[in-house]
Amino acid sequence: MGFLNLFFPQVCPVCGVLLVGGESHICLRCLSDLPLSYFWSWRDNPAEVLIRERIELVAAASLIFYRRESRWRSVIHKFKYSSQLSLGRYLSKILGRRMAESLAFCGVDLIVPVPLHPIKRWMRGFNQASVIAEVLSAELGKPLVEGVLVRSRYSSTQTTKDKSSRQRGVKGAFSLREPHRFTGMHILLVDDVLTTGATIEACGLEILKADGVRLSVATLAFVE
Ligand SMILES: [Zn+2]
Repeated sequence: MGFLNLFFPQVCPVCGVLLVGGESHICLRCLSDLPLSYFWSWRDNPAEVLIRERIELVAAASLIFYRRESRWRSVIHKFKYSSQLSLGRYLSKILGRRMAESLAFCGVDLIVPVPLHPIKRWMRGFNQASVIAEVLSAELGKPLVEGVLVRSRYSSTQTTKDKSSRQRGVKGAFSLREPHRFTGMHILLVDDVLTTGATIEACGLEILKADGVRLSVATLAFVE
């Protein structure tokens, strides 16, 4: 056990038990219970069906799926709101490794995180989608591009809104600078959670303005 762990013992974010030697981020028991979606090897999976109702899509993958009341929700919450970046990177690595073995994503040219509004990015200290995208970039061996897709409008947190107000909140909130940089490319758009698909649609519509571009999506979680 490390020196810091004596003062700040690490607990499993899912079940709350103390992590023991050999365990990192999530206890082995919860890890073996991980509600994997297997979307990376499942075409026409629920995430793809949801997004295709809105925009054109090549493929979509999420690491885990959960319902709103699930204890797995706290894992994403701790990553996002309690700045547990290493937990986010750990889960992203599992997703990246699975995606690297999937034929659906081998043609990806560029990885683009869903941007936060600069004020929100400043308040949180990081963009959770960028953290995930950095790990996927390393695992898939594909470059990451930030600052081209930008969020121009601020909206308050989405978690408390219903479906229609979420939709209004993100519509037209994003814009693509230098769309010629995306011409003919297969873009992997990355976000933390896929719920209604409104954010993915708003970003995707901008990306798809570039000539001959194809779009795929990756998120850590898919909310049933
Ligand atoms: Zn646990």
